Amino acid sequence: MQRRQFFSSLIFGLTYGATRPLWANGAVPLVKNQTSSDAPALAVDPQVDREQAARMQLKIDRYNEDFPDDIFLKPEKRALFKQVLDRISRVQTAVGYGRFNLMSFDGLLKIAAEVPEVGLFSQEEMHFIEEIFFTDAKSYGFYGEKVTDKLTTQIREKDTIKIAGSGHYLFRGRPEALYREITRDVGNDIVLTSGIRSVVKQLHLFLLKTEATGGNLSRASRSLAPPGHSFHGVSDFDVGKTGWGYRNFSDQFAESDVFKRLTDLGYVDIRYTRTNTYGVRFEPWHIKVST
Ligand SMILES: [Zn+2]
Repeated sequence: MQRRQFFSSLIFGLTYGATRPLWANGAVPLVKNQTSSDAPALAVDPQVDREQAARMQLKIDRYNEDFPDDIFLKPEKRALFKQVLDRISRVQTAVGYGRFNLMSFDGLLKIAAEVPEVGLFSQEEMHFIEEIFFTDAKSYGFYGEKVTDKLTTQIREKDTIKIAGSGHYLFRGRPEALYREITRDVGNDIVLTSGIRSVVKQLHLFLLKTEATGGNLSRASRSLAPPGHSFHGVSDFDVGKTGWGYRNFSDQFAESDVFKRLTDLGYVDIRYTRTNTYGVRFEPWHIKVST
């Protein structure tokens, strides 16, 4: 048994009847050019292909709903899941929201060891984090690329710049330059809503999203890339309209004047479009940086 299949069997449970990964049920993968060695050959029947694409599109459009083949955390893992989530949240509180964006896995363990209110991660908790990180995200329906494949990847602070007033960081080089161009051209009512997110930051967000979906990993991954799969870890960033709060992370952002100006000026190169093949919701606020 391969490592990731082993992990999958540990953490994924069955809530509905048939909740095994689609490919494990003999179904064809939902995207073309799939590279995983676990995947069967692509379907040759175009009708089947169209049906798969339509199913994926339905999930993208209704990303925040449960589907019968969604994968959930096993019930017996829920308590451990909560323990891990709470401990990581305490690290964020200890170091501050801004700094936490850059936090490495080693940094996480260091804070846990130094701050009594956080407390050490148990072996079981560490194993759980590994399971989440190393499980093949395709097994619960996320088809994006794994851009950071090491749990211990470090972001060097000297490669980053803190963007004043935002609490977020960007990588120096193309991401920072693009952000400066955008703010110069679009105007001062545009704001950086999320910049660099380390593996730990993405892990924390993914666990929070999983909690909010009642343990539905598939639903969580339709609106947030699982740890290791976020382009926030390597280049991309999110923008919004000043004062718009949570609406900046909703379809409403696509109706804003800021988005219109971004589009008119040619800055919008959306990574997750309305009809993407990654299984991710439409994200008009996410700026793709070509590096
Ligand atoms: Zn984003």
